[in-house]
Amino acid sequence: MVELPDKRAKFIDWYLEVVDRADLSDKRYGVKGMNVWTTYGMRARRNLDAVMVRAIEATGSEAVEFPALIPETDFAKEKEHIKGFDAQVYWVTKGGLSDLDVRLVLRPTSETAMYPTFALWVRSHKDLPLNVYQIVNTFRYETKTTRPFVRVREIHFFEEHTCQVDEAAATARVRSNLAAFRAMAEAFALPYVPIRRPEWDKFAGAHYSVAFDIPVGGARTLQIGSVHHYRQNFSVPYAIRYEAADGSQEYVHQTTFGLSERLLGAIVAVHGDAKGAVFPSAIAPFEVVIVPIPSADAPGAAERTASELADRLRAGGRRVHVDLSEDRPGAKYYRWELKGVPLRLELGKREAEARSASAVDRLGRRTRVSFDRLEAEVAERLVEFDRALTEKATAEFRASFSVARTLEELAGSERVRVVAWCGQEACGHRIETAIDGALLGTPEEELPLELPTIGACVGCGTSEGARWALAAQPL
Ligand SMILES: [Zn+2]
Repeated sequence: MVELPDKRAKFIDWYLEVVDRADLSDKRYGVKGMNVWTTYGMRARRNLDAVMVRAIEATGSEAVEFPALIPETDFAKEKEHIKGFDAQVYWVTKGGLSDLDVRLVLRPTSETAMYPTFALWVRSHKDLPLNVYQIVNTFRYETKTTRPFVRVREIHFFEEHTCQVDEAAATARVRSNLAAFRAMAEAFALPYVPIRRPEWDKFAGAHYSVAFDIPVGGARTLQIGSVHHYRQNFSVPYAIRYEAADGSQEYVHQTTFGLSERLLGAIVAVHGDAKGAVFPSAIAPFEVVIVPIPSADAPGAAERTASELADRLRAGGRRVHVDLSEDRPGAKYYRWELKGVPLRLELGKREAEARSASAVDRLGRRTRVSFDRLEAEVAERLVEFDRALTEKATAEFRASFSVARTLEELAGSERVRVVAWCGQEACGHRIETAIDGALLGTPEEELPLELPTIGACVGCGTSEGARWALAAQPL
C-alpha cells in the first residue's frame, strides 16, 4: 500500500490522490475538467444536495428548473454580466447541419435564462417575494488547470434566484441566505468566514457579493459559495416590474445564492488526513461499514451476523455497507479509512459471542457497540464523531490566520493574513501584490480570533476608515 503524499508539504498532490484513490471521481473522461461521477462520489453528492435542499426550503425557497441553452439575445442584456462571462462560455452555433439564426449559450449561470421568464411571472406586489432555486449543471470554459470538484468545466451548481419588493427586502434575503449557509456548514463540519468582496472582485453585475472562504493550508483559501445582492441591476434590463399597492410600476430588487460541488472538495481538503478522506456523517456515502472477520470453526457466521446488523441499521435510515470482499481484514480497514467512512464495526467470533462489535471511528477512537442497543449506540458514536471532527476543524481554522502589520510581512505568508485596510482600491492592489494573491475583502461576521487594536492601513499608512480585511492565495 503506497502512502499518500504529505498533506502539508504537497497539498495539491495529496488532494488529487485522495479523490482518485477514494474513488470519488474518475478523471479519465475525454474532456478536461469534465469528470465522471462514480457511484461512491454520487452518494456523497446526493447527501450534499439533500443538506442544501433542506436548508434552503426551510427558508421558503421552491425548486424550479430552467433550460440549459440561452439565446444570445437574452444573454447579452446586462452589460457587466456579459463582460464577466464572455471569455468563459460555450456556444452552440449549429442545429444538426444548419447554422442557428440566434446562437445559443450553454448556461454558465442562470440569470439570463431565468429573468426573461421572471418578467412574465412577476406582475403585482402580491407575486413577491419570488424565491426559487435549481440544482443543475452549468458550463464554464476554464482556462486554468482543472481539479476535480474545485475547478471544473461542468459544474454541479446550486443556484437560488429571488425577486424582492425593495432593497431592504433583498438585504434581508441576503441575511437569510447567510443564516441558511450557517446551518449547512454545520452538517459539513466546515468552519468558514463570510466575506464582503471588494468592488473589483464582486460577481459580474452585482451590487455587492458576500463569499464564503475556507483556509486550506498555508495562505491558500477556497471559495465555497457566495450570496449576491443585485439591487435593480438585472431587473431593469430584463424588465422585471410589478404594480405596487399604490398602482405605480416598480422594478424588483434581486438576490442570488450559489453553491457547488466545491463543497465536496472542501470537505476532502479540510477533514482529510494522512490516511485519506474523512466525511462528516451527514455527507458520508456510507455512515457505517461493517467488516466481518471470518472464523475457520464457524464459516459464514460473522458474515450472517454482519448482514443482520446492517439490515437493522438500514431499517432506521442509516447508510451502511458490509464489506464481504475476499480481502484480509487489515486491507478492508485501510480501504474504508481511505474512503472516509465515519464508523467501522469489526465483527469476529469473539464479538458475536459477547454480542458487541468493536467500533472504530475515523478519528481512530475505539469503543464497543452492543447488539442489543445497536441503533442507539451507533447514533451516539456518530454524533460524537461529528462533534470531534468539528472541534478539530475549528482548532485548525483558528490557527490558519495571523495579523500582518506591514506589506513586507505579507510576502511568503504561511497563513491567511488579517490586515488593516483603508478601503481604497489602490491599497487593495498593493496588498494583493505583496501576498501574491487576493484581497478577499472584509468579514461580514466577527472573525473567531483575538485581534489587537486596529492600526493604520498597510497600503498607505492612513488610520482613518481602517477596517480588518483578509488577504490570501485563493486556489
Ligand atoms: Zn490605504
